[in-house]
Amino acid sequence: MESILKELREQLNIEESNMFFYCPSCEFKYTFEEAMDYGFSCPGCGNMLQEFDNGELIKDLEGQIRFLKEELKINVPVLFLSSKSTEKDIYRALEAGAVDYVTKPFSLKILLQKTLNLIISTSDV
Ligand SMILES: [Zn+2]
Repeated sequence: MESILKELREQLNIEESNMFFYCPSCEFKYTFEEAMDYGFSCPGCGNMLQEFDNGELIKDLEGQIRFLKEELKINVPVLFLSSKSTEKDIYRALEAGAVDYVTKPFSLKILLQKTLNLIISTSDV
């Protein structure tokens, strides 16, 4: 899911930082540079290229990104495993949203059970 988010962000970046042109008959989209190269006429049919308003597309991408970020926040529980064991360390991790904090040295048996409980409690079943 993280990689999808990354792709969406890159796509959003491209859409935001470029101007696009399109041919209404061929439904083909060109970047400003490409359109320039073609002299603003479609290489397929010779029609004048028109400016493409990608405002809706950008809004759509932003919406998808927001949705994915929420999903990630909700569905990925964080369990801290750390050698730092002061109250401050633990509190900071919990405050940042960690659901649990295990300090070293730890019992593997207990860690496994905690992880299992976490998976069970956050699964959709
Ligand atoms: Zn065309």
